Amino acid sequence: MILAPYASSPEKSKGRVYDEAPSNLRNVFQRDRDRIIHSSSFRRLQYKTQVFVNHEGDMFRSRLTHSLEVAQVSRGIARSLNCHEDLVEAIALAHDLGHTPFGHAGQDALNDCMREFGGFEHNLQSLRVVDKLEKKYALFDGLNLSYEVREGILKHCSLKNARKLGELGQRFLNKTQPTLEAQIVNIADEIAYLHHDLDDGFRSGILDFDLLKSLHFFKDKYDQVINEHGSLNHEQILNEIIRRMMNMIIRDVCNESFKKIETYNPTTVEDVRASSSIVNFSESMLSHIKQIKQFSRVNLYNHPRISNMTDRAHITLKKLFKYFQINYDLIPNSFKTDVKETKERIISDYIAGMTDRFAEQFSENIKN
Ligand code: MG
Repeated sequence: MILAPYASSPEKSKGRVYDEAPSNLRNVFQRDRDRIIHSSSFRRLQYKTQVFVNHEGDMFRSRLTHSLEVAQVSRGIARSLNCHEDLVEAIALAHDLGHTPFGHAGQDALNDCMREFGGFEHNLQSLRVVDKLEKKYALFDGLNLSYEVREGILKHCSLKNARKLGELGQRFLNKTQPTLEAQIVNIADEIAYLHHDLDDGFRSGILDFDLLKSLHFFKDKYDQVINEHGSLNHEQILNEIIRRMMNMIIRDVCNESFKKIETYNPTTVEDVRASSSIVNFSESMLSHIKQIKQFSRVNLYNHPRISNMTDRAHITLKKLFKYFQINYDLIPNSFKTDVKETKERIISDYIAGMTDRFAEQFSENIKN
């Protein structure tokens, strides 16, 4: 792998919180990726909602397949920009580890429950998972990941929480950028979910071609595919369109990022951190992206079938939160190792880690 001078390098990593002897088989970022894959939070992503709850059907994305798709898109972009593929892979696989059951609805519900107790932010929760909640090692809590992976996981953070995070929180206070690898995963996350949500929306029957063709970008690709191939089945048409859309968007991001690299001319990771954001969509592509987001909000995320799930998620998580406030002794002791944490934070850690199924079954067993 030939790395650009502005790429992150494992040899120059800012290191881990607890010093560990280096491995002679794997670099720092590969080791981090492996730790993430072997964590129990990673396995649980399989049973957490992306948009459709797990039991709605086996063909929809879960948080796990979403994370794998983000890793694939990230690696492609990293390779084009000569950035570090292992680092983007590790960040991508870990980026949603802190996600609650029931997707964004679950996160909003838990944030509501935690309003008086410091709130709930899913990016910060992903960091809590890798820093504290995973219990795999004898010498420390968490996975003891490198600074660069932790920096990439913490995509957003409120200023209040950033102040408590030391060096890792500084960029939110100083408004500086993370590594290019972190910027790549951030945009790959958007590219992946925008497309796979359209795909899942179509498979679910909520979206159809007539509706999707109201998106100019989609219609353009639809016409191309029909002109080139004539009769194809719906699944082939859809896959061909989505593939072409993603391809064009990824190319756009690479071109635009190269332009920014030429403009800012970063020669080190520190230059990248100090310059404006580099990994971006072009202006014209950004307007397509905004249209897709708006389209999905109106036609998919706010569709009654999805919003029913959203309402149920709110009821379930709020019920669990209240129940554990009264029955705190039912929270496993492994969550209660840090005496400085409030009872509510421990409850929120426990609920956030649940799969959809576990949360639903637990809530059903609670007598009203
Ligand atoms: Mg994501």
